[in-house]
Amino acid sequence: MKRAVVIGAGIIGLAVAKEIAKYGIDVTVYDGKRSVEEGSKKASGILSKRGLELSGIQYKDSIVNTLYGAVLHFGNQSMRIRTDRIQAYILDRGSLARENYEAATDSGVKIELGKRLGIDDIKDFDDGNTVIVGADGAVSSVARAFAFPSISNFVLTYKAEYKNVKTENRGIVDLYFSKAYAQGFFGWVAPYTESIAEIGIGITDTVKRHSMSAFQSFVKIEEMEKRLGNAELIDGHASIIPVSSRKKTVKGNVLLVGDAAGQTKATTGGGIIFGIACAKVAARDIYLNISKGRKLGLYEKDWRRSYGTDLKMHAALHRYYSMMEEKHMQRFIGIAKALGAEGFFSRYGDMDSPSLMLKRFFLRGMSK
Ligand SMILES: Cc1cc2nc3c(=O)[nH]c(=O)nc-3n(C[C@H](O)[C@H](O)[C@H](O)COP(=O)(O)OP(=O)(O)OC[C@H]3O[C@@H](n4cnc5c(N)ncnc54)[C@H](O)[C@@H]3O)c2cc1C
Repeated sequence: MKRAVVIGAGIIGLAVAKEIAKYGIDVTVYDGKRSVEEGSKKASGILSKRGLELSGIQYKDSIVNTLYGAVLHFGNQSMRIRTDRIQAYILDRGSLARENYEAATDSGVKIELGKRLGIDDIKDFDDGNTVIVGADGAVSSVARAFAFPSISNFVLTYKAEYKNVKTENRGIVDLYFSKAYAQGFFGWVAPYTESIAEIGIGITDTVKRHSMSAFQSFVKIEEMEKRLGNAELIDGHASIIPVSSRKKTVKGNVLLVGDAAGQTKATTGGGIIFGIACAKVAARDIYLNISKGRKLGLYEKDWRRSYGTDLKMHAALHRYYSMMEEKHMQRFIGIAKALGAEGFFSRYGDMDSPSLMLKRFFLRGMSK
């Protein structure tokens, strides 16, 4: 009887292992970190309400704030996307990791923390009797061990938490687009409470700059200086987000999920909702392989058929934005607003799925 090993106890590794265990397959997760919360401050936790509900992960005890919309700032132009419905939650990533660690162990997953595996350790699992799942993040050792194609685009990030930040509306996240400090991505302010907020920035890895230097430029812009006033820095962390998927994500008995596969939204860097959706596809395909002998290689087609179009749309939007000059972007936003874009996004918008947004638009438009 085949078994599965998962390298990485991040949110996607825990999700895929839990799903595999639900099929009655023996599964062990290995991670180098000593506690499941370790490293969780490096990333944010802004997730759509709809995506979370569909994901089936545990998150209710990790909610720190509720979001109703966003303001997108492009120099002197801004676009407000606001509704009276809850659009998204800000989650505490450490608590989210803990909730899902417990859910995985309750489902029968064995988790070995404090076990950082080298390339040879990973190759040793390849005994013909084990399905190996690489859920080991953007710089995947599993991908390296089995010579998967590399990920071509990354965003470098820096985020920090501050106390005593001036926040007008706790239900709104602010996104700042500018080539001066956030080349190829954006800066953000995500309020946790009335006075504690997370401030972060991402830049494309094609510019020769450290994300912390971009962050320092960002917090010095006039609006940020006003908001920060006498705010007190709590802590800050640099990290990396893959914003393109690997050309190949399965080989023999080895498959990749989550950031290791590059299953993230290139527009925002959000990787949890699509990563979990792909983890479910992976678990089902592992089950069908072990119980019915179906080819594991079909995972590639399966996840791309379900989620590839949306991820490609995110990538195309990200490319389009990255290529646009700042003055053209401001003009474009001005025209889009005049044409009613704020109302359009407030009504039909979906943080995860551009294809769903278009479907809603056409279906509601036709039913009028
Ligand atoms: C600044 C920032 C903000 C973000 N904001 C959001 C957001 O708001 N919403 C959202 O959906 N996503 C967001 N993301 C993306 C999201 O955090 C990732 O998509 C998600 O964490 C990927 O999970 P994962 O399990 O695939 O990988 P990871 O979280 O990277 O986990 C990989 C795990 O593998 C372990 N590991 C690696 N190598 C080895 C090895 N050789 N042996 C053993 N263990 C190993 C690591 O210790 C780690 O625990 C953000 C990311 C960043 C950096």
